[in-house]
Amino acid sequence: MSVWEDVIARRARALHLGSVRNQIFAFAALATLIPTFVTTVVSYQQSRESLTETIAAELRGATSESAREMGSWLDERLDALRVAASSYVVTENLSRIEGRDNEKALGRLRAYLNSLRERFPDQEALLVLDASGRIVMSSSGRTGSVRLSPEGLTGLRTGEALVGEAYWDGALGKATIVLAVPIREADGRFLAVFAAKLNLHAVTDMLPRLSPLDSGDVALTTDQGRLVIRSRVSSAELMRTKLPETMTSALFEKEGQTVVYKRADGQEVIGSLRRVQRLRWAAVAQIPLAQALGRVGRLRSATGLLLAALLAVVGLLAYVLGLLIARPLGRLTIAAAKVAAGDLLVELPGGGVGEVGYLTRVFNTLVARLRERESQAELERLSVTDALTGLYNRRHLMGTLATEVQRSRRLRRPFSVLLADVDHFKQYNDTHGHPAGDAALARIADILRKTTRGVDCVARYGGEEFLVMLLETTVGTAAIVAERIRARVAIEEFAGGRITISIGVAECPSHGDTPESLIESADAALYEAKDRGRDRVVAAAGHQEREKEKKRRRTKTARASEDT
Ligand code: GH3
Ligand code: MG
Ligand code: MG
Repeated sequence: MSVWEDVIARRARALHLGSVRNQIFAFAALATLIPTFVTTVVSYQQSRESLTETIAAELRGATSESAREMGSWLDERLDALRVAASSYVVTENLSRIEGRDNEKALGRLRAYLNSLRERFPDQEALLVLDASGRIVMSSSGRTGSVRLSPEGLTGLRTGEALVGEAYWDGALGKATIVLAVPIREADGRFLAVFAAKLNLHAVTDMLPRLSPLDSGDVALTTDQGRLVIRSRVSSAELMRTKLPETMTSALFEKEGQTVVYKRADGQEVIGSLRRVQRLRWAAVAQIPLAQALGRVGRLRSATGLLLAALLAVVGLLAYVLGLLIARPLGRLTIAAAKVAAGDLLVELPGGGVGEVGYLTRVFNTLVARLRERESQAELERLSVTDALTGLYNRRHLMGTLATEVQRSRRLRRPFSVLLADVDHFKQYNDTHGHPAGDAALARIADILRKTTRGVDCVARYGGEEFLVMLLETTVGTAAIVAERIRARVAIEEFAGGRITISIGVAECPSHGDTPESLIESADAALYEAKDRGRDRVVAAAGHQEREKEKKRRRTKTARASEDT
């Protein structure tokens, strides 16, 4: 595995992404989340920008329109005033006031003013003032106070018109403004002042119509930042309200543009301002930012919902996909673990597709081959093994012995054999039964295996006879090993009590240089051990002694046959 693969694998394990299913899930989630998130952020940004642009346009439109309408309202009223002031009724009656027809002239003037007043509902009062500002005549009804500054009056002598300050008329209970135009003689000489006191109802009615969006409002303020009228509201208190300096200066500075600022109530708003010409007023439109961007918020929630839904769908798909891939892999893993533990009877359903399907088929073939090989090995093992004891059988032993004898001759290296026979085993069988005898044989075989080296060949030579080949061992050492075996068997507790064995030891090539002669020597030694009272080890004698022993045995057998 390369270094980076190793690093990634370690990181993945730390993040619990070791399993294929988790990896698929993580990948699917990331593949969904990242593009959606990026798209959302970009579209959110764009929507916010475009919405801000729309709102800015709306605010600018509202303020421009308000300023324009205010301007035309003012023009209209001033025009009307000029027309009224230039009427001969005014000049003629003014000139007669000083004369005999004083009362009559005043009466006519009042009638004229009254008739004019009824024409416009926003005209609270019409007045004629003399050059020093004293009221000569006013329309009947409640006029309330009329404020005309001395400077304004002076201005009228030379100027065209006077637009007074807006103020709250307590007597009328209305926001009012005084407009005045000069009354001049035919030669242009300043004669008097024609003034109208107007309520601002028309303006109050106009503002809501011009409010931007649903949540915004438009207000008119003086250039000092004092509120005149606000859409839907007109009151003395309002007119005493002054907007914060920071806010008005920012708005005036950026006239016609949008400014974001905090209102007195702490709410963040976006606003715009436009001056109203001649009135020294400004139209201010504003809208709370939160409401203005509400649509973006809704877009965000909708995107959030969409994202959650997408994640759910993708999660489900990833889960199904994970199952499709991970389940066969999981089956493969479990099966591989079983095979590793030695169970070759596993067979996986091989109908899968793709790499995993291919892997499954390869796995099945692999296990089948292993099974074949194992059964072959088992057959081979059985062919060389004795079923009862699990030791090598006689056939195998004879083959091995032949090879070893040849090797010993070629290399001139000695090796030894032990031939062991259970003492009085016939009797043991008779007393405890054949199965107990079998168990004892298996036990003795076990002891033989454990008391010899792995390289030594331990075999069942006959019914209750065992042969052990001790490689690279002289007869002396072999006798020690034989004694150890004998002693070990002698202390073993068998089901039927104690059992002893007798062992004959012979060395190749000194006691025999063929398998047969070697076994014969060991057998002679064993015979001697039996003869000497059993439960003992006897090493084979040299060649002459062996001949003597043969003779002795022949005599013994002859005598025994004579006796019977
Ligand atoms: P000894 O060797 O001490 O002279 O007496 P022995 O009774 O053991 O005599 P021998 O070796 O001639 O007897 C062999 C007996 O071993 C005969 C048979 O009953 C018993 N035997 C041989 N093969 C088996 C076997 O596979 N299972 C059982 N249970 N007994 C066996
Ligand atoms: Mg025997
Ligand atoms: Mg025996």
